[in-house]
Amino acid sequence: MFVGVLALQGAFIEHERRVAELGATPFEIRELRDLSKPFDALILPGGESTVQGKLLRELGLFEPLREKIVSGLPVLGTCAGLILLAKSICSESTVHFAALDLTVERNAYGRQLGSFHAQAPLLGGAEIPLSFIRAPKITKLGNGVEPLVVLDGVPVAVRQKNIIAAAFHPELDEDRSFHQLFLDTAAQAQ
Ligand code: GLN
Repeated sequence: MFVGVLALQGAFIEHERRVAELGATPFEIRELRDLSKPFDALILPGGESTVQGKLLRELGLFEPLREKIVSGLPVLGTCAGLILLAKSICSESTVHFAALDLTVERNAYGRQLGSFHAQAPLLGGAEIPLSFIRAPKITKLGNGVEPLVVLDGVPVAVRQKNIIAAAFHPELDEDRSFHQLFLDTAAQAQ
C-alpha cells in the first residue's frame, strides 16, 4: 500500500517510519508533481496548521488534495492535521479541507499543559500512549463521527468513514496500534 505523507512542515518523518514498520510504503508529498503517482492513503502530520494551510495553497496542493479527501481517499490527520480536516475551528473564520464533521479549538490545552502524556484505551481495548503538544481540543462532534479514544470524557481521536484524526501524536510513541488501525481502515477502503 502506498501512503502519501504531506511533508511541508512538522513531524512527517516519524509517520513515514511507523508506516514502513507496518509494511506499507510511504512517500513524501512536497509539490504538485508528487501527486501524479497513485497512492492509497494520505497522512497529514502535526506541525502548525496555519503554516501548512498557507503552503498547501501556495504550492497548488490544496485543491487536488481536497478533492481526493472528499472523494473518499483514506486520511489520517494528527494534531495540526486534525485542524486541517475539521469542518469548523473555534474563533477562526478560515477552515481548510473541512471534510471532518467536528469543531476544534486550537491550542486549547493551555500554556502550562501545552505538552503532556496520558494513556487511554483505543476503541475500548488496550491502552495506548498519548502525547499531546499544543494540541487542539475537539469541542463538538457531528453525527457519523465515532470516537476512537476518549480522555477525561473528551474525544481525542475519531473516525468518520475513511477519515481518522487524532489530537495527539501517535507517531511519536513506539506503540503502532493507531497506525495499524489506520492502515486496516485504508485496506478495507480498497
Ligand atoms: N498548535 C498547532 C496548530 O494550531 C498544532 C500543534 C501540533 O500539531 N502539535 O496548528
